[in-house]
Amino acid sequence: MNASTHAEHAANDIAAHLHPFTNLATHPQVGPLVIQRGDGIFVEDDQGRRYLEAMSGLWCASLGFSNARLAKAGSEALHGLPYYHTFNGRSNPAAIALAEKLLALAPVPMSKVFFANSGSEANDSAVKLVWYYHNAIGKPEKKKIIARRNAYHGVTVAAASLSGLAPNHRDFDLPIDRILHVDCPHHFRYAEAGESEEDFATRLAAALEQRILDEGPGTVGAFIAEPVMGAGGVLVPPATYFDKVQKVLAKYEVLLIADEVICGFGRTAQMFGSATFGLRPDILTAAKALSSGYVPISAVMVNEKVHAAVAANSGKIGTFGHGFTYSGHPVACAIALETLKVYEDENILAHVQSLVPQFQQGVQAHAARRYVGEVRGVGLIGAIELYADPARRTPFDPAQKAGARLAELALAQGLIVRAMGDSVAFCPPLIITAEQIDDMFARFGRAMAIFE
Ligand code: PLP
Repeated sequence: MNASTHAEHAANDIAAHLHPFTNLATHPQVGPLVIQRGDGIFVEDDQGRRYLEAMSGLWCASLGFSNARLAKAGSEALHGLPYYHTFNGRSNPAAIALAEKLLALAPVPMSKVFFANSGSEANDSAVKLVWYYHNAIGKPEKKKIIARRNAYHGVTVAAASLSGLAPNHRDFDLPIDRILHVDCPHHFRYAEAGESEEDFATRLAAALEQRILDEGPGTVGAFIAEPVMGAGGVLVPPATYFDKVQKVLAKYEVLLIADEVICGFGRTAQMFGSATFGLRPDILTAAKALSSGYVPISAVMVNEKVHAAVAANSGKIGTFGHGFTYSGHPVACAIALETLKVYEDENILAHVQSLVPQFQQGVQAHAARRYVGEVRGVGLIGAIELYADPARRTPFDPAQKAGARLAELALAQGLIVRAMGDSVAFCPPLIITAEQIDDMFARFGRAMAIFE
């Protein structure tokens, strides 16, 4: 491909394509980055430039960008049964096998799996299940859902409401009522002077309990949490946080939804982030690495307590009135099933575990840099956060767009990282090798040197 092909792509993209999470006012001047092929952990643009994709796209392509087994599974599925639905008890072998497989992998005993197409739809479905469940058990007042500031749960109306990031709410008239936000468990940023992680966690759990009491325990139905907050800046929970939070939830019969959309399937070096951080969810949502991002698919797992009530209630009106045209799509399920088999066959968890020390040291190695305030991470996910004056914890003026500038400099080094505010994240494909981790941090180091 050459410059004229790119110019044509750019002009047509600007003319026709409304981009998600993009500054639409400046896009006509900035233009698109057109990615048109991938191999392994690399992607290539329409001018032949190669990039090490240190974000797996959007935290999803765990098996990289050219896995032949997934392509074959998709092709066979398309030739066999390209589409069928799962309403009215219809099913297909791939959906059945995938549901069984997910239940076998679940971090806590789960009873059933509902399929959707995206993380947002999974979380919206979880919200509706919480509401339906509480109607079913005769507690129709118990509908409020507590999420956390800086969380990211997606963009559909309920999922965007659960998210605790300003751009998801502002000028969209969100959040909707019945969705509330409590403190973000970011120790470095929000702890009081001298407060340990444990004390910070105790304070946040106490504040959560007070909020439940203020709202009225009879009105609070669920609490939703990502084990590691992703888009909020890769925020790893402080020690003892989930233990303390879950004690509060249990006391007031508040359900726990674990949003495993990023953490699921090995990212934290265990199959689920819930296992890594001791969450015992009633409802678990997953997407992204479920299919290595190759096709849209998400899953909502529910435990038997939730399922039994929901199933009994559906009997009263003759249907569970929720589901998507593409719930349990046979092609998506076949690719997801193959993805899970590849994780197993290639022992991806052991591979990830073997790389974690090197990866985390690579992130830590930037801690002493001039503008780095905090580095954090777990498994194969990490972030560095930039501050104008790290010693005084003075942030950069947002107008300086420090994180975005660093990500641009990385791009020029052939490296794709993601800026979320002034945090820059790494979430490479799980198939990355030790040499490629060195390559990734070498590229990043060059970008940092220019940034400084
Ligand atoms: N939940 C989490 C934790 C996510 O990171 C995301 C997307 O990044 C979502 C939900 C929403 O997923 P989707 O974009 O597939 O709707």
